[in-house]
Amino acid sequence: MKDNRPNLTTAEGAPISAQQALTAGPRGPLLMQDVQLLEQMQHFNRERIPERVVHAKGSGAYGTFTVTHDVTQYTKAAFLSEIGKKTETFMRFSTVAGERGAADAERDVRGFAIKFYTEEGNWDMVGNNTPVFFVRDPYKFQMFIHTQKRDPKTNLRCMDMQWDFWSLCPESLHQVTILFSDRGIPQGYRFINGYGSHTYSFVNESGERVWCKFHFKSKQGIRNYMDDEAATLIGQDRESHQRDLYEAIERGENPQWRFCIQVMTQKQAEAFHWNPFDLTKVWPHAEFPLIEVGTLELNRNPENYHAEVEQSAFSPSSFVPGIGPSPDKMLQARLMSYADTHRYRVGGNYQQLPVNKPRCPVMHYQRDGAMATAESYQGRPSYWPNSREDTPQPAEQHAEPAWDLGTVIADRFDSTVDHDDFTQAGNLYRMFDDAHRDRLASRIAGVLGQARKEVQERQLCHFFRADEDYGRRIAEKLGVGVSQFAETAGTGA
Ligand code: NDP
Repeated sequence: MKDNRPNLTTAEGAPISAQQALTAGPRGPLLMQDVQLLEQMQHFNRERIPERVVHAKGSGAYGTFTVTHDVTQYTKAAFLSEIGKKTETFMRFSTVAGERGAADAERDVRGFAIKFYTEEGNWDMVGNNTPVFFVRDPYKFQMFIHTQKRDPKTNLRCMDMQWDFWSLCPESLHQVTILFSDRGIPQGYRFINGYGSHTYSFVNESGERVWCKFHFKSKQGIRNYMDDEAATLIGQDRESHQRDLYEAIERGENPQWRFCIQVMTQKQAEAFHWNPFDLTKVWPHAEFPLIEVGTLELNRNPENYHAEVEQSAFSPSSFVPGIGPSPDKMLQARLMSYADTHRYRVGGNYQQLPVNKPRCPVMHYQRDGAMATAESYQGRPSYWPNSREDTPQPAEQHAEPAWDLGTVIADRFDSTVDHDDFTQAGNLYRMFDDAHRDRLASRIAGVLGQARKEVQERQLCHFFRADEDYGRRIAEKLGVGVSQFAETAGTGA
């Protein structure tokens, strides 16, 4: 075939003349010196990297963030310094529990992670499409994820395992209610809101710190599937979220989100009726209204899924000056865990890959490791302090104000006592109309019914505590008598 196509080469760049195995005679055997075939086979054996333990199935796209409102009274973050300022971004959405081959249209939380390539480093906003989470103590996180994965013996998803855990951890009730609500199966990633979920901190030029929550509101609106629609769709298309996002961007229908924050002063935090750093709680809008910041638009599909989406790496520890953590215990644990998993999954120098690489100079004394590029270090020395010219040094102007922790006792505090796990779940339930309440109850009964009787009864107590009607509907669908729950109904305790 004669055409203008380029010459096929080995990975070393040497031209290849044929694509048939080199053999001793037409019937074989193979010759060891067929280095082209060896290279191809050996590279193939190394095509996969470990899949993420959670959020394994995902989709990604590049985009632009534009500041629309002035928030400099709250933060000195350079990329938020001026109305109209634009910052390049990369974003990855995901489902949480399913493996890489899982169907998209499943009932699950959705991951919502954005990398802002700012002039002062990457800020990663690593959130979900829900404003809260199932647990508040990081000791429970790995255990919770185990319950969402497969039973170690049967290799099946196990409703008894899930509900056993949830019923023993009532702090999960708020998120469980969201998960089984009509928002549990989005129509696609364009149709979800994103939340930072944790409380973070903002620091302004004067060194004043406020606590804040992040919200990304879909301009496409919220669209969800009912269970039967999703079941039919999964039978036809397991990649519905990936297809929807990719094709929308190819058509030029660039999805957008409004970025808003909620802000709480330290004084307000001390007076707040819930722990403002509890990941199972929202800050009610009526008390802490949304403040507009800007617009995020996704406008370019990646060229290569593996290089750019699979190897993209987001970590809540990627802060920039003006944005920082809060005492939230779950966030504190994630600050270590995410970067650590990327070092295992992608490699010690994952930040040098193009999708993860900051778009500003990176100047540090970390060195070497697998796949390090000279571009990152050049000829600079590898130690500090040094007396060499033009070497990077810390700059005091970036110091964050000290945290006043008062007189504190370090201990393993029980995160299950003195907490109201029921009021906010009940508030959400009471927002739903009658038909929504009934769908929610049917979905929960459908899966809770697969758990042992004692698990059902323990969990029913929690629904009754959140709202009498919530508990009664599910109990009736399960065929469980309601009189035993009379004492707890609606008590919120
Ligand atoms: P508001 O009435 O001010 O806010 C209600 C919020 O609920 C809206 O943001 C709405 O999102 C969202 N919502 C509607 N249906 C669902 C659903 N099925 N799953 C999850 N969220 C939904 O009340 P409050 O601020 O007092 O919050 C009441 C409850 O609303 C909370 O307990 C929490 O469950 C939920 N919520 C609260 C948020 C917050 O930050 N305060 C954020 C998201 C949910 P939309 O604007 O898209 O309609």
